Amino acid sequence: MDCSQLRTLLDAYLDTEVDLMTSLDIEKHLAECPACTLRLQNRRVIKEASQGDSLYMRAPAGLEDRIRASIKPADKLVWSNMLRYSVPLNRVAALLIGVILTAGLFHFIVPANSTSDSLAQEVVDSHIRSLMVDHLSDVISTDQHTVKPWFDGKLDFAPVVINLADQGYPLIGGRIDYLDNRPVTALVYQKDKHIINLFIWPSTEAPETAPTSIQGYHLINWTAANTTYWAVSDLEASELQTFAQLIQQSVAAAQP
Ligand SMILES: [Zn+2]
Repeated sequence: MDCSQLRTLLDAYLDTEVDLMTSLDIEKHLAECPACTLRLQNRRVIKEASQGDSLYMRAPAGLEDRIRASIKPADKLVWSNMLRYSVPLNRVAALLIGVILTAGLFHFIVPANSTSDSLAQEVVDSHIRSLMVDHLSDVISTDQHTVKPWFDGKLDFAPVVINLADQGYPLIGGRIDYLDNRPVTALVYQKDKHIINLFIWPSTEAPETAPTSIQGYHLINWTAANTTYWAVSDLEASELQTFAQLIQQSVAAAQP
């Protein structure tokens, strides 16, 4: 046995994994070769050191509990499913990237709805704000002949002001609000304890599909005679629908 042969068998010899004949050959060479004897001693020191307690550290008490507690239930499920079904991580990553790209693409090619969605949200926000800050009406009147002149000179259009007191939806006031990047008429109606805001501004655009309900408020929008209308209230949807129909009929009847 020469030095290079012994070198390949050294670890096996230290672990007593070589047969008796090989072991005897190794010991015969070691007795004659100081270099291999030194190599063996070095290996033995490293082996013993790596088995000593000094290289092992016990985890602090409670560390496992803290790690488990910090994992959200959903994460736990995903991770445990991943491990259970051995889904390769790169496939999961590819799937996630695919989902993100698809969502981004859909967001990109369907921008039309988001415009009317955000306008609907603006209408609801304006309605809520009008209820909250005691800014429901700048002009308080149950008489449309008082409300209508109040808007004169304040807007670049003359809204048709209808009172529906006889039909159970009395006009209680009006104000100027700001929607769709422009000043608009806000007429305030009441049905029992419920407030209805009717926003009116000139627009030749056809009505877009918009949500009919946001945050519990119902919305109806329509365009007639180059004017856009948005009615918003926490009324029952059917009662708001009746209100919208009454306004549509009355405005049509009032047109010259
Ligand atoms: Zn040797």
